[in-house]
Amino acid sequence: MSTRVHQLAKELNISSGELLAKLKALKVSVKSHMSLLNDEVAGLIKEDFAAKLKKASVPSKAKAKEGSPVAVKGKKTPVSEDKEVSPKPKEPPAKDKKIVHIKIPISAKELSGKLLLKPSELLQMLLKEGIIVHINQILPEDALKKIGEKIDCEFEKLPTEEEKVIQLHSAPHDLLKMKPRPPVVTLMGHVDHGKTSLLDAIHKSSITDREAGGITQHIGAYEISFRGKQITFLDTPGHEAFTAMRARGANATDIVILVVAADDGIMPQTIEAVDHARAAGVPIVVAMNKIDKPQANIDKIKRQLQELNLAPEDWGGKTVVVPVSAKTKEGVDSLLEMILLEAELLELKADPSSPARGVVLESKISRGGPQCSLLVQNGTLKLGKFILAGEFYGKVKAMFSDKGKRVHTAGPSTPVEVLGITGSPEAGEKFYVVENETVAREITQGRQLIIKEKGLGVAKKTSLENLHERIIQGKEKELRLILKADFQGSLEAVKSVLSKIPSDQIKLTILHEGIGGIIDSDVMLASASDAVIFGFQVDADERAKAHAKTEGIEIRIYRIIYEIYDEIKKALEGMLEPKREEVFLGRAEVRQVFKVSKVGAIAGSFVLKGKIVRNAVCRVMRGKEVVHKGKISSLKRLKDDARDVEEGFECGIGVDNFTQIQPGDLIEVYHIEETARTL
Ligand code: GDP
Repeated sequence: MSTRVHQLAKELNISSGELLAKLKALKVSVKSHMSLLNDEVAGLIKEDFAAKLKKASVPSKAKAKEGSPVAVKGKKTPVSEDKEVSPKPKEPPAKDKKIVHIKIPISAKELSGKLLLKPSELLQMLLKEGIIVHINQILPEDALKKIGEKIDCEFEKLPTEEEKVIQLHSAPHDLLKMKPRPPVVTLMGHVDHGKTSLLDAIHKSSITDREAGGITQHIGAYEISFRGKQITFLDTPGHEAFTAMRARGANATDIVILVVAADDGIMPQTIEAVDHARAAGVPIVVAMNKIDKPQANIDKIKRQLQELNLAPEDWGGKTVVVPVSAKTKEGVDSLLEMILLEAELLELKADPSSPARGVVLESKISRGGPQCSLLVQNGTLKLGKFILAGEFYGKVKAMFSDKGKRVHTAGPSTPVEVLGITGSPEAGEKFYVVENETVAREITQGRQLIIKEKGLGVAKKTSLENLHERIIQGKEKELRLILKADFQGSLEAVKSVLSKIPSDQIKLTILHEGIGGIIDSDVMLASASDAVIFGFQVDADERAKAHAKTEGIEIRIYRIIYEIYDEIKKALEGMLEPKREEVFLGRAEVRQVFKVSKVGAIAGSFVLKGKIVRNAVCRVMRGKEVVHKGKISSLKRLKDDARDVEEGFECGIGVDNFTQIQPGDLIEVYHIEETARTL
């Protein structure tokens, strides 16, 4: 956007003549006061005037009141309409920096308003510093720093409405108001070991005759009453759901019931479940299921549990192991008793008198609008209150219990279905009761803005590349790892190499180790526990890769054992090179080879997958052997030159400096992506 000379002069409160003289001195050729000035020239002029103005009057930090406007270059008497900013016209000159109070996140547009600058002026200021942002974009921290330096002010963060709400909900509890609350339990274990059957058996056995005719609702959790005490069971068994919730920051579970089939024993997912529960620091009670089966071997399972560091109490260990049968209901009561006992030891308490907060169990959109299942973790949720969860908020219009009954209140550890929220937040999202609709709206709008600004909302996760910085900043003393390898032997070799890393430099904690490829639940665990995933001679599946990318989880694949040691050592010293990753573009099969004078060989090929791209790097494969590495120097589709040729089409490919190409060879095209250091 350009400005006319007279407009700029007016803005700077000088005459057009003065400005024209100034421009002439700067050797900028302008004809008249109507001439257009480009942004850069206008910016320079303003800077020049601002510097002069600043010399004449710099407001004092000591005397500045909270939120008073900053002296903006080129502006004479800045007046802001913002409530937090009050004008201070006759500030005595001082050298201290001005303090400007802002709410984070702040967009370029909002900040320019706060600084009484035109948005374009602010954007240009940033452009000069090499920071390119658009007007509605949230300003990253470095941009704020640069602006602060430029206009000689310091930005002080005001607590956002969101922070105020979180502060309120996490304020120290009044011990006198704390009351015992029911435990929340999740069942985990290997597939087919009977998690669903056991959940069902417990649920059915708890339904009284009076309730038997009623409709039980599936609301993500159910409550039972046993010996006069309540227990809440989460309805989605398995460590995937458990850790997915944790990855969203919610720890809903107090006790994990590890279901192990007595006729089968510890299986890979049993171990995963144990590791996921341990990473979350949640105590484990073992339900040894299917004891009705003739093949059940209780002693064998106990031995295996002992090997997993879950030695049963009757074997001198600390783990409660209850033999049960979901089929005959044998042992179910003992299991419930043990859960209550464990809960007593945990001294679970909450304050029912405070405003409610908790976690979203699930949500769906039905004909009547969004329905949200919530688990209240503290406080009491009441009809008519405003709640917010994720990007959504609303007034609680109606609440239903897991038995399908309308309820007016829901206390700690109670699951309820709520109507009135304007959308469907994701499972694991935290919910809070807020004062009123305005607060709810402001917070959700801020969150939506962050979500739109992809990446800014995602907290930076640990990676080998930022490990050194995190150690220096005192953020990291421990590196949490998830190890996956092709064989038990290689896993042991990896661990042995890791044990050589001096523990005074960093504590290595292996949250989970396993044989086989890297899967989604590994990524979820890494995300929930801020860990890095190492794969040795294994790869990650597509879902895990995609998820790792969105969650910012680092997956490092190794083929040589000592590379692991070297990379960790380098990472600790901050000497790790940026990660270079090969990104597959396409693969073509050579069907026929034409010799062309001067050019060499042209491979008449068929694109099997992806696309072949001219000038991209490639390798020529003959069977499993790489016979050449080079570049696609020419690419033709029919007779025409092509920039790229898609899957399912024929093309002529020339690979630079390679004439030995043969029919049957595969040409693989890729590019190298460098992941920069993520500080
Ligand atoms: P999940 O995958 O862990 O949820 O396992 P399910 O609850 O679906 O159970 C898997 C199979 O084991 C089903 O065929 C159940 O009927 C059976 N099953 C579950 N518990 C028991 C039990 O205590 N005894 C016997 N005999 N079968 C069981």
